[in-house]
Amino acid sequence: MRDPRYDILFTPIQIGPVTAKNRFFQVPHCNGMGHAMPLAHAAMREIKAEGGWAVVSTEECEIHPSGDLTPYVEARLWDDRDIPALALMCDKVHAHGALAALELSHNGPTASNLYSREVLLAPSHQPSKYGYPSQARAMTLHDIREYRRWHREAAIRGKRAGMDIIYVYAAHDLSLAMHFLQRRRNQRSDEYGGSLENRVRLLREVLQDTKDAVGDTCAVALRFATEELLGPGGVELAEAKEIVGMLAELPDLWDVNLAAWYNDSVPSRFASEGAQEPFIDFVKQTTSKPVVGVGRFTSPDTMVSQLKRGVLDMIGCARPSIADPFLPRKIEEGRIDDIRECIGCNICVSGDMTISPIRCTQNPTMGEEWRKGWHPERIAPKRSASRVLVVGAGPAGLEAARALGQRGYEVSLAEGRKELGGRVTREARLPGLAEWARVRDWRVGQIDKLANIAVYLDSALTAQDVLDFGAEHVVLATGCHWRRDGYGRSNGFAIAGFADGARVYTPDDLMDGRLPEGRVVVFDDDGFYYASVAAEMLRARGCDVTYMTPDDSIAPWSLNTLDYRHIRKRMAKLGIEPVVSHNIIGFDGSTLTLEDVWSGRRRELACDALVTVTARVPDDALHQELRQREAAWSEAGIRSLRCIGDAEAPGLIAHAVYAGHRYARELEEPESGDVPFKRHFHTAHATDLLRDPAA
Ligand code: ADP
Ligand code: SF4
Repeated sequence: MRDPRYDILFTPIQIGPVTAKNRFFQVPHCNGMGHAMPLAHAAMREIKAEGGWAVVSTEECEIHPSGDLTPYVEARLWDDRDIPALALMCDKVHAHGALAALELSHNGPTASNLYSREVLLAPSHQPSKYGYPSQARAMTLHDIREYRRWHREAAIRGKRAGMDIIYVYAAHDLSLAMHFLQRRRNQRSDEYGGSLENRVRLLREVLQDTKDAVGDTCAVALRFATEELLGPGGVELAEAKEIVGMLAELPDLWDVNLAAWYNDSVPSRFASEGAQEPFIDFVKQTTSKPVVGVGRFTSPDTMVSQLKRGVLDMIGCARPSIADPFLPRKIEEGRIDDIRECIGCNICVSGDMTISPIRCTQNPTMGEEWRKGWHPERIAPKRSASRVLVVGAGPAGLEAARALGQRGYEVSLAEGRKELGGRVTREARLPGLAEWARVRDWRVGQIDKLANIAVYLDSALTAQDVLDFGAEHVVLATGCHWRRDGYGRSNGFAIAGFADGARVYTPDDLMDGRLPEGRVVVFDDDGFYYASVAAEMLRARGCDVTYMTPDDSIAPWSLNTLDYRHIRKRMAKLGIEPVVSHNIIGFDGSTLTLEDVWSGRRRELACDALVTVTARVPDDALHQELRQREAAWSEAGIRSLRCIGDAEAPGLIAHAVYAGHRYARELEEPESGDVPFKRHFHTAHATDLLRDPAA
């Protein structure tokens, strides 16, 4: 059972009129499902409550059409018709003894109003934040009164939905309550602008309004950014300290963090566990109210230390609760080894950014709770006594083996190398990616506990080996390798001098320790993390590094994981020169021929080596050969053969984990048809959603 050291994490705490049963607080987080997929959203939040979180929050909740976040899909309480969707969540959260929290927000100039077509609102006239070709207008005193009314009415709707905690949101540079604090956004000369007292006025009023409206039964929380890292135009720590002092006892709970989102949910490549402490540790000294904060906490010892040292009263988690919704329960039950620790890759963030349901590298069931009925801890038992051979122990193979083992199948996992983990083990050795090894470590830890999984290292299997093995089901998760020939998104054919070039390197070479020297060009036609990691690694080794891409921006997909700004800053700091909008025409081993993708102008660049990050090739030779020998399967006892993960189609680690998990879930189960998941359909009235028999 529970280690007494962790008892402190399980002491109840009073938050205004409500009591949280323990110190685990799932802070608001976006999920790409929001108001558009209320059943999926409610099911995802329910799993958190079941997993032991004392408080389970929504994501931001729009309070009015003039704060419409389209195309992003968040929660919504524009009028009473939005109540049932959130009531659904509250019922499910309450069923497990947790409190439901609602993060009300009006995003002002950080909204879009693309759907509502309302004019954007802001403290002063200003451009919209996200580059839309429209401005927000300065709010009149009438607008301010209206905004306060919308907020009050949304709070009342939240209470009617069953919410226990109602947030006033002044964080992430995403809400009017914060925009009025910021000098760069608030240039008013009336009682709402100018002095700090005036800039805080609206936040104080909204807090008071919310308490008056719902404070009898609901706690009122304030989510507050203490630092934006923007200098005097933004909220700065010194001013934040004054603001906390001014409002200290007004909210029932302080939820404090850094703004904007990219400074809050920093990828593990750029920030470690507990990194926000220096920016928020003053809050508890200033207020007697409970304080919650985040720091991608996955270690119970760190959590205890936060409480004991008086930094926080409650452990706030978004990502750790996504990677392991059962984190509190596992600590409570003394199952620390079973915690599936977040790796800080921010693929979860990319769901919101790409307007699709949330996904998680570590937790393949995230986002699938309702539509596939997947539970992060439970899985259907095996259907038969069949044995399964898994070939390849990267993320796909490890997860397939683990989940098949959990189902009770006899599993053999064969890995050609002398170590487990495939790409995860290799990539985790690159600068900044060490925590990614958790993908391997959790799975290996679970596999070690299952007697029905046999692991064979140093066992590169041939097709004949597989046929001789005698397993009824074979799944190949043999991975992929990087192309050397330059083929990729921008180049439909090999680039002259690449494939045979002794001075052309791929990410595999770097991970295998084959490293270039001197003046190196890193060619990024991939657009995510590899190229910048390679550039950083080579720079640290003393190379003179140029980063080159045919794209107009470096690593464009990294915007979806909040890596982008951090990558740019680090490259600038390390002196890595970025060259964008340039393709490579050829490389002769010492001279690179480049072409400006817009002007077509060519030039030459002297360099000693080239690292090409373009595309990958599945390692599917084993799969191909076994397919060719299909006639031999039945004699060998093979009933099914599948190829999954990077060996099927190279992708993210998240894709590989999902593929392994899905394979294990579906083995010997009835076919699920052409659409293998439930969907939401628009109905005439929101309450129709509640008629779903599976809800
Ligand atoms: P994925 O991301 O799909 O899991 P990885 O590249 O991470 O793929 O892992 C694939 C693993 O498969 C690697 O560790 C590799 O050594 C192993 N592998 C490849 N071919 C064979 C084989 N024929 N027999 C056993 N292991 C193999
Ligand atoms: Fe953590 Fe990555 Fe999962 Fe997000 S996607 S919760 S960062 S492991």
